[in-house]
Amino acid sequence: NKILEVKDISARVEDNEILHGLNLTINEGETHVIMGPNGAGKSTLGNVLMGNPKYEKIAGQIIFNGEDITEAGTDEIAKKGMFLSFQNPIEVPGITLSNFIRNAYQNRNGGRIRLWDFRKDLESSMKLLSMDPSYANRDLNVGFSGGEKKKAEILQLLMLKPNLAILDETDSGLDVDAVKTVSEGIKAYKEKVGGALIIITHSTRILDSLDVDYTHILVDGKIVKSGDASLVDEINKEGFEKYIN
Ligand code: ADP
Ligand code: MG
Ligand code: MG
Repeated sequence: NKILEVKDISARVEDNEILHGLNLTINEGETHVIMGPNGAGKSTLGNVLMGNPKYEKIAGQIIFNGEDITEAGTDEIAKKGMFLSFQNPIEVPGITLSNFIRNAYQNRNGGRIRLWDFRKDLESSMKLLSMDPSYANRDLNVGFSGGEKKKAEILQLLMLKPNLAILDETDSGLDVDAVKTVSEGIKAYKEKVGGALIIITHSTRILDSLDVDYTHILVDGKIVKSGDASLVDEINKEGFEKYIN
């Protein structure tokens, strides 16, 4: 069953066309890796899928869970079960991590939740990510280290249980231990939720504990090559050179 179909999507940011007819199909529960040189449009793709209004779709169609979401807004798309973890998570003074996740959780699950269930789920998910419980009551990402911000993103993934999660360089800037923890968090998401994943990355360490179904090379706003997990190793050895015109 298809969870996502991206059909010939072209999109622009501030008058610059960045995506040029991109196609991508993902089935339920699959793990896809997207690699590509800096500036190729990887983060743009994440933003376009998630309906970020800064990114204007010029052509094409996006089908999510069988519904056309090409024109849908970010909140609606999130509610339907798509999640984007940002390359650079923002700091939000005045909203605690716990309240932030509770709001998103309520949006995702349509209204009321039992506080007790929420707290228990939050506690066990934080434990799994080796996060100190006190972080729940700290302002979102304010004063968090790079690794702690990324863990907070994975915590949202575990709590919101999306059926498609897009992780944009969630591993960048993390030390070995943090990569391992984040990787285990992603694995727990796969096991507990069984959702599909798009992992945008430059490194292989985050993939160590995951089974990759497909790898795609994104160059100049298009997928120029798709393959299986072995394509990740090929790129690491040989780079993108042969895919760039
Ligand atoms: P990647 O994630 O593959 O490194 P991006 O999608 O971030 O690439 O960027 C692709 C191109 O789009 C770059 O030239 C970048 O400068 C431009 N771009 C992306 N987001 C914005 C934005 N919000 N405003 C202006 N230009 C942007
Ligand atoms: Mg780019
Ligand atoms: Mg990027």
